[in-house]
Amino acid sequence: MTFQPTTLPSTDVPPASLRRDDVAREIPELLPLYDQFPHIIYTKSDPVYETISSAFNLSISTLPLVVVRPLEESHVQATVKIARATGIPLGIRSGGSEMSARNYRDVDKGIIIDMRSMCSVKVSHDRASANIGGGTIGGDLAVALSKQGLFTPIGWHPRLGYAGWSLAGGYGLYSSSYGLGVDHIMGVRLVLADGSVVDIDKSNHPDLFWALRGAGNGIWGVVTQLTIKIYPAPKLLVGTLEIQKENWPAVLDRWANDIEPNLPDEIAGELYFRNPTLDKPQMIIFFAWCAKEGDDLKKGWEYFEMMKSLPGAVVQRISESDFASYILSEMTIQPASFQTRGVIAKGMTNKIAQVIINNWKDPSFYMGFPCHFIHGKATKPDPTACFPLRYRHRIFPISARHAELPRTPERDALVAEACARVLEELKATGDCYVGAAYENLIPPIDTDLEATFGKETLEKLRALKKKYDPDNFFSRGYPVL
Ligand SMILES: Cc1cc2nc3c(=O)[nH]c(=O)nc-3n(C[C@H](O)[C@H](O)[C@H](O)COP(=O)(O)OP(=O)(O)OC[C@H]3O[C@@H](n4cnc5c(N)ncnc54)[C@H](O)[C@@H]3O)c2cc1C
Repeated sequence: MTFQPTTLPSTDVPPASLRRDDVAREIPELLPLYDQFPHIIYTKSDPVYETISSAFNLSISTLPLVVVRPLEESHVQATVKIARATGIPLGIRSGGSEMSARNYRDVDKGIIIDMRSMCSVKVSHDRASANIGGGTIGGDLAVALSKQGLFTPIGWHPRLGYAGWSLAGGYGLYSSSYGLGVDHIMGVRLVLADGSVVDIDKSNHPDLFWALRGAGNGIWGVVTQLTIKIYPAPKLLVGTLEIQKENWPAVLDRWANDIEPNLPDEIAGELYFRNPTLDKPQMIIFFAWCAKEGDDLKKGWEYFEMMKSLPGAVVQRISESDFASYILSEMTIQPASFQTRGVIAKGMTNKIAQVIINNWKDPSFYMGFPCHFIHGKATKPDPTACFPLRYRHRIFPISARHAELPRTPERDALVAEACARVLEELKATGDCYVGAAYENLIPPIDTDLEATFGKETLEKLRALKKKYDPDNFFSRGYPVL
């Protein structure tokens, strides 16, 4: 089977067309920026504003007073300098997928600096690294590399910004065989709060290099470029299997006792529980096998046959594929309004499986409940990065919304209650690392920074924050130090 790629929604936008009067009326503090770079400033008066202003989670109703869309680094520097001098709130976005949209806090009185036009991919001569723009989107990167027979891990969803995804950790289909996104960052170019630019790598500002890789989302400065590791395209077997609700107990029993404890490093993926139709819950097994160097895909096909033999398993798709075609053909998730919670667990254990089965007995909300696998190379410690979750774990981020629209406070409260109940039941199993969080997928309410990073790392990060951003100008990211 070959996959039919879909086109990514274009991140290109026409130049802004505001008049000076519009800016003078709506955000006069930006007039000096407008006078230099009129084509990068979009307010509500610009026809493009609507398409570039909202976050992925549409439950975030805050919209920025202005979107600044830099085309080059000097635009970023000028924007940061003006925002800091005038005290206007500034949030940074690339893919815009941050579930809790911490970057949108208070920007109804300020700026979203939208990095998506700074999207570029340059491959090094030795084809071992690439320099990419700070607003590069994962799907675009995968396609650009694939055209040259190259590859690097990205997240599941093609619209995630590479910077936003990788700086906090960067989990995906190839974490167990290649390591996390954070393990691929070799260098970062950053605009600091005073507007200056620094090149950061293991020799230059190694303290900031350590901090950015694991605690780097929007709290140190604006990333304008990243240098990342790349590889010759590997042999991949990817696909999905679906299992109907009546078979979940038998499948999850086998999963918890035989599959989970023995998952090979070649396999990464996800179990996804969801009910796109209210009363028809599905369990999807996202299957991703990456052959070790020199191996063919024989072992992968054998492993897939085993999964196919799970009770009631129906193959939706399976193919030896290049990753770019696969990921672009899977692009089904659209921006939506939802609530999130989440927890990290030791594994898909029997007790956790039981909570999932009970919870989905009679679903009255739309819910998405993935279980991301983290093992293999993803757990290899790296003392040059502060990323803390270097132990085998499974992430359970929950997103939910009421079956009926429009949203009302009463409906929201019911959804919040349901999510909280599932969370409490999961924690009560004793199989969770309560408080430890992967902040890209787990919201602040379920995050305890000390449980996540440990006291010593947290203190070191706080000291560095005072050194590099003493006024806490970059305060719309995470972790909140
Ligand atoms: C549908 C969906 C699927 C997902 N799948 C995965 C997955 O497979 N694996 C995974 O690990 N995560 C996944 N996530 C979570 C994802 O990694 C986070 O949402 C992440 O924040 C996305 O980054 P972004 O650039 O798209 O978001 P944005 O909202 O643009 O940014 C997120 C954060 O990064 C900061 N940031 C972004 N760009 C820059 C920059 N250039 N300089 C400095 N700071 C910057 C922002 O300030 C913000 O704090 C998924 C999320 C969604 C909604």
